[in-house]
Amino acid sequence: MSTELANNDFKELVRSRTDLVALVGESVALTPSRGGAEFKCLCPFHPDTNPSLVVYPDRQTFRCWACSTGGDCFTWVMEFDKVEFREALESLAKRAGLEMPTFAGRRQENAVAKTDVLDVLAWAENEFHRCLLDSQMAAPAREYLKERGFTDETITKFKLGFAPNDGQWIIARGRGKVPLEPMETARLIKKSDEGDGYYQFFRNRVLFPIRNDKGRCVSFGGRVLPQFAQPGVGKYINGPESDVYSKSNLLFGFDAAREGIRKTQTAVIVEGYTDVLIPHQFGVTNVVGVCGTALTQSHVDRLKRFAQRIVLMFDGDKAGRDAAEKALANFLGENIDLRVLVLPNDQDPDEFLFAHGADEFRRQIDIAAEAWDFKLQTEINRHGLQSIDARHRVLTSMLELLGKVPKLRASAKEDVILNRLASRTLLSEQIVRQRLTEARSNAALPNGNRPAAGIPQRGSEATARTMSAPTAPLSHKSLRVDGAPANRGLCFFDRPLSKGDRMECELLEIIFTDPSTLDVIRREIGDEDFDNEQTRALLQACFDLMDHDETPTFERISSAIEDAALMRLMVWIDEQARLKEIADKLNDNLMAPSGATVPHYLTLTLQPIWQRRAEQQHQRNTGRLAQQPDARAGLNPNAKARLEQDQAFHQKRAAKTTWQ
Ligand SMILES: [Zn+2]
Repeated sequence: MSTELANNDFKELVRSRTDLVALVGESVALTPSRGGAEFKCLCPFHPDTNPSLVVYPDRQTFRCWACSTGGDCFTWVMEFDKVEFREALESLAKRAGLEMPTFAGRRQENAVAKTDVLDVLAWAENEFHRCLLDSQMAAPAREYLKERGFTDETITKFKLGFAPNDGQWIIARGRGKVPLEPMETARLIKKSDEGDGYYQFFRNRVLFPIRNDKGRCVSFGGRVLPQFAQPGVGKYINGPESDVYSKSNLLFGFDAAREGIRKTQTAVIVEGYTDVLIPHQFGVTNVVGVCGTALTQSHVDRLKRFAQRIVLMFDGDKAGRDAAEKALANFLGENIDLRVLVLPNDQDPDEFLFAHGADEFRRQIDIAAEAWDFKLQTEINRHGLQSIDARHRVLTSMLELLGKVPKLRASAKEDVILNRLASRTLLSEQIVRQRLTEARSNAALPNGNRPAAGIPQRGSEATARTMSAPTAPLSHKSLRVDGAPANRGLCFFDRPLSKGDRMECELLEIIFTDPSTLDVIRREIGDEDFDNEQTRALLQACFDLMDHDETPTFERISSAIEDAALMRLMVWIDEQARLKEIADKLNDNLMAPSGATVPHYLTLTLQPIWQRRAEQQHQRNTGRLAQQPDARAGLNPNAKARLEQDQAFHQKRAAKTTWQ
């Protein structure tokens, strides 16, 4: 028990140092409501279009009205990062700058913990950064960055680095301090093909740290210096994926861009590291990059939580246009304002910014063409509209694209697009619709050009989980925190509440509102008076805390609870308490009999529980009577009824005298 309590003490310390609003705000855009008493956002745990998730700053809890996911800061990290409790505790402790105490024997020794790998990456990021700033070896790199227009401020803010042309450099820097194993897990070093030595992954490159949403370095992008560029070797290379780095989940610069995206409701997506950093240097902070990968569903899902509009800013070259087209096919059906921007004269974002400044850059973003119009204009430029034949060719390529977006089918957006298409190609809407049907049946053929392969549809199980780290258990929600299989009682929200459930929840509402009521409650009620397994567990947790001379405050009870389902229930009950203004009800004693010392509302709430106990007792009594035929035979119905009334009267009176 003492270890358990020590655990809870630490858990509570971490909780007290964590602001749930700030924590949630790192991953989703929160809007204050009720004058800042609550915050709302789109729920990341189910496909959400109206903000359904509420964060309560006073209680430091959150709950989704639609999918019932809810809990405290630990639940949030467990659900959002798809990790077990232990890892959530570690990550929040680290975030709060707290050292994890060593609890006996719970750590897995075989795997390198994610947090260790992040520590190693943070260390390496620092080494590379200092190398860039100070080392003689990095002089050409400093020169290169200056030429590209990077200010010292940007270099420091984004902690750019330099990896010297020495396969052993980082290994030598870490000797005696950093073991090779986590360095390899972090993909900083690789085993040599021959021999059993290691060598450094990045050599002679300027490094752009790639960070996760929490701003921690998970990998690097490396740019070769122009004078060392070799044919056949990419100018840019991305670090390989690892336990902590997944390209399809991560957007470069997102941690720095989050606020800018939220404020402007617009996310600008570019292709390169420089294309992200130079706009930030100019104060255009809503720009993020894809790290050597196409835009994925997971990227779009993440951005949708902060922005209504996504602007794809791709190069005007063929690769850029292809990327735009691919994104269009994949995301045209999304409930988002998708736009494509090619800067005038096919300029790169940095070229454009240095030539025209931030205001003109922002203006270009504002006037970016709707993705659909962009594609239509591209086709019109290609085929022209002079002949019927040309117009049909434009129509064909547009319908081919539409045929690949099943989500658009019969939507309002589709109507607008078809109407627009008909008027631009000067063909009747009826023909356009007929041709679309044909295009769709072609797209559905097994050998047809099937769209968005490998991209899960929104709302499917797969999408709901795209955010998960590859190693995280998918069915984690159905697991108890301690890894034991889910018990039957987990589905509290899966069925309507019984009258008994409601009575028990109502009493817990009072306890969570005012823990001092427990002294009275415990005198009147035992945990055997609760029928529901889960509410009973909550009541028991309160009694346990009392037994350890602790006040069962809401925070203390949450610390004692590790079961995710119980936590959810607890947050729900607490929310009900606020909606029903239980605190006011407890203070309102106008209707109380004179001389009452117990809040009248508590008395009223205890009454039905007590009454149920009496009924159950009575049923047991009559059951016992039923087993004694002689005794039952001796009672006529009238006598039996009288006996029951008597019983009820005595018990009621007994109960009342206890309270008054
Ligand atoms: Zn939800």
